[in-house]
Amino acid sequence: MTESAKRMRAMVYEAGRLTLNEQTRPTPGPGEILIRVHACAVCHTDLHIVDGEIPAGRQPVILGHQAVGVVESAGEGVEAHLVGARVGVPWLHSACGECDRCRQGDENLCEGARFTGYHVNGGFAEYLVARADFAPPIPAAFDDLEAAPLLCAGVIGYRTLRIAGVRKGDRLGLFGFGASAHLALQMARSWGCEVYAFTRNDAHRRMARTLGAAWAGDTGDPSPAPLDCAAVFAPAGAVVVQALRQIRKGGTVAVNAIHMRDIPAFEYALLYGERGIRSVTNCTRRDATEFLDLAARIPIRVSVERYDLSEANTALDRIRRRETQGAAVLEVTGISSKS
Ligand SMILES: [Zn+2]
Ligand SMILES: [Zn+2]
Repeated sequence: MTESAKRMRAMVYEAGRLTLNEQTRPTPGPGEILIRVHACAVCHTDLHIVDGEIPAGRQPVILGHQAVGVVESAGEGVEAHLVGARVGVPWLHSACGECDRCRQGDENLCEGARFTGYHVNGGFAEYLVARADFAPPIPAAFDDLEAAPLLCAGVIGYRTLRIAGVRKGDRLGLFGFGASAHLALQMARSWGCEVYAFTRNDAHRRMARTLGAAWAGDTGDPSPAPLDCAAVFAPAGAVVVQALRQIRKGGTVAVNAIHMRDIPAFEYALLYGERGIRSVTNCTRRDATEFLDLAARIPIRVSVERYDLSEANTALDRIRRRETQGAAVLEVTGISSKS
């Protein structure tokens, strides 16, 4: 192997800055795979890290936890037939597998869980190493750019709807309309739900209507009909209270945010009537496989804003200004289209 073949380009976060540089290509250890990254989607969590709202798990670190690529080589103990497979690398890098949480199927809550692009290097790079048993196969229905945002925005949107207790035909409110909500809306529609989208951004309201929302308005607008449940995707505490105001008795507000500005005090009457507020924290492998299967069957249409790897800061800036339409995705190396 030549010297240049062992190098790779990567967007590395350190001391408040995300910059393109050259790194040594990683090698897979036991149970790990080396993946040639085709595409990696950009998440609001990446932005929280760059903006210092969430301290990085280590520095320097390559960000990105929604990577799609092809297995280039496998470490000891990994089945050889995995080489050449197209897989995804999600936020959950690994969990301990032994604690009560892991044994009960709640590996997303494991105290020993480690996260991609946070504790370990992520997918804003030409290559990354992942645990073979935490990298799901990607359905053929999606090309690389479409598949990438499914791995966090999609999977956590799926978990959010489950935590909200969405049932078929429910009237569901979505508060905030980024990458995750545009996918959650389509899931909810496939379950026959009536979806109400609350967002400040006019272009996002138009997108919600195009994707089948029954109504779209501003975050503070009263809902035209009482909601059975709600999902909050905006990292603004005030929006949690606005959502709570719109749900009927017994309804749940699921909060999909890893970082949230303080929730303002509100009158107990808003919560009374067995209403609930629940946070959504990470995802399990089961969430990922269930959701990817569902997404292919619907099939979900993914709106992608494409950027080069080197343009990650531009993509983050668009997310910061809430201008992204759908999901921002970095194209890294030789993407493949759907078969
Ligand atoms: Zn994410
Ligand atoms: Zn555990």
